[in-house]
Amino acid sequence: MLGRRTLLKALALCPLCAPLAKAGEGVHWSYEGHGGPQEWGSLEQGFAACSMGSQQSPVNLDGAVAAESARPKLAWSPGTFRVTNNGHTIQADAVDGDATASLNGKTYVLKQFHFHTPSEHTLVGAHKAMEAHFVHAASDGGLLVIGVFMQAGRPNATFSEVMAAAPHAAGSADKPLKLDPGALLPAVPSTYRYEGSLTTPPCSEVVDWNVFATPIDVAQADIDTFRALFAMNARPVQAINRRFLLRLN
Ligand SMILES: [Zn+2]
Repeated sequence: MLGRRTLLKALALCPLCAPLAKAGEGVHWSYEGHGGPQEWGSLEQGFAACSMGSQQSPVNLDGAVAAESARPKLAWSPGTFRVTNNGHTIQADAVDGDATASLNGKTYVLKQFHFHTPSEHTLVGAHKAMEAHFVHAASDGGLLVIGVFMQAGRPNATFSEVMAAAPHAAGSADKPLKLDPGALLPAVPSTYRYEGSLTTPPCSEVVDWNVFATPIDVAQADIDTFRALFAMNARPVQAINRRFLLRLN
């Protein structure tokens, strides 16, 4: 992702390229104060869903309907990821993308995973220390995100590796890492499922959300490392409105 400074420089060099900036890439947004979640919808035209949408994420996970509905089938294996500090989170981008999730005959490819603190979804009204999001994309633009709550406990070697590689300023780590994303999944398969949105601008309502009910343990020291970089990067919970929240046990 281009930094604001880089973008402004690029615009100065290439005034005809200005429409490219309309994609919202250079718009400043934040989690608190000026440019915070209450203002996202009015920061730029393309962000309107953030305030006007009716299927926004995250939500409180409670009162779910027990369902026998299909759950995404994950075909994940260790792969190569590049760890990036994008100014909003620490993100691991898949370099060789062959990890997939399939649901209802559609295949989604794992593009990246990243983290929030505290958790964005709440579980019966309560936040967990952190939440990981595994973002999968289908060829038609649909997204399937797997959410995993994280709490302080036994160290998780994969999360420790990501945090050890995390750049302290915006940019990417020099060396890609061989990582096993499956090591960041809980053993218990129980999952909440609902139709929602990106939790960052432009808040597009294109996400099939699947959030595991059981948190994974990670080292408190690694949570502290993340919080030293991003003290708070969670959007407040949004109204569920007329959506179904399913619980797949
Ligand atoms: Zn996220």
